[in-house]
Amino acid sequence: MERKRVLITGAAGFLGSHLCDRFIKEDFHVIAMDNLITGDLQNIAHLFKLENFEFYNHDVSKFVYIPGKLDYILHFASPASPIDYLKIPIQTLKVGSLGTHNLLGLARNKNARMLIASTSEVYGDPSVNPQPEEYWGNVNPVGPRGVYDEAKRFQEAITMAYHTFHGLETRIVRIFNTYGPRMRLNDGRVLPAFIGQALRGEDLTVFGDGSQTRSFCYVDDLVEGIYRLLFSDYAQPVNIGNPDEITIKQFGEEIIKLTGTNQKLVLKDLPVDDPKQRRPDITKARALLNWEPKINRAEGLKITYDYFRSLPKEALINTEHKDFKTYNK
Ligand code: UDP
Repeated sequence: MERKRVLITGAAGFLGSHLCDRFIKEDFHVIAMDNLITGDLQNIAHLFKLENFEFYNHDVSKFVYIPGKLDYILHFASPASPIDYLKIPIQTLKVGSLGTHNLLGLARNKNARMLIASTSEVYGDPSVNPQPEEYWGNVNPVGPRGVYDEAKRFQEAITMAYHTFHGLETRIVRIFNTYGPRMRLNDGRVLPAFIGQALRGEDLTVFGDGSQTRSFCYVDDLVEGIYRLLFSDYAQPVNIGNPDEITIKQFGEEIIKLTGTNQKLVLKDLPVDDPKQRRPDITKARALLNWEPKINRAEGLKITYDYFRSLPKEALINTEHKDFKTYNK
């Protein structure tokens, strides 16, 4: 039987590369796309030898063309950390808006089902906890996170419009904080920041007083949820995340224990608009997808720490993005 064909954008990134692995494992033909401003080919290097894998170096904010048939599109291209939004705000807006529009057009043209990667950031700094899908959010459009949050909100809106107006088959996953191997050590996110600091023998930088909360999901659990959502028949947004909520201070203490570092937690200024609390309500995912996370933080952190420890020493040096300065805005 002919293989089903899936286009994965952001394929060289953290989540995109894990999705490539999953779809290869399920015997799909995977067409991977990335412009490599935040992605890294290292994450998918092991797939290039396969006959059912191909890679396009392309920016989806520009017209996207794929020869042949397409059954599914998973749009995971986007900068995804507050440091990235500050460095490449325009690209962040473009990939969520123009990029999504291009891919929706492609999906229509190919009669493909399209799943978009949305985010808990659509809830902003939420005034209800945990956050159910029905909560509309509390977002500052002109703050530093606005470029990401509003691009993602627009992305949901245009995806839903293609669904209702054109009858396109669409799926929307709202992804909460996720971690695991292949996170970028210098992306500024709390987990690679803490583990990188521990490995370099630096103090761990807690922003604010560390009382803000997050709920961390291990990447394999997330991928399973996304896989189930794609093959469900539900077009409304679905939260996928781990509801096990923890303060950032407690999280720092867990990393100190895990890594056995002699360093301590030091407090730094809280970034502007940093959400005070975040925890997914996963009632819908449980009911519709029969999904819930299986890997607890202790197990997931151990695997992730082992991955970071196995990287060559040079990787620990906090380097700038390769081509932020030259990239065409
Ligand atoms: N954070 C921190 N120290 C760091 C990096 C992040 O205390 O070195 C905090 C950050 O202020 C936020 C939380 O950790 O409250 C999670 O940050 P991250 O950037 O990972 O993701 P967010 O959920 O804010 O998008």
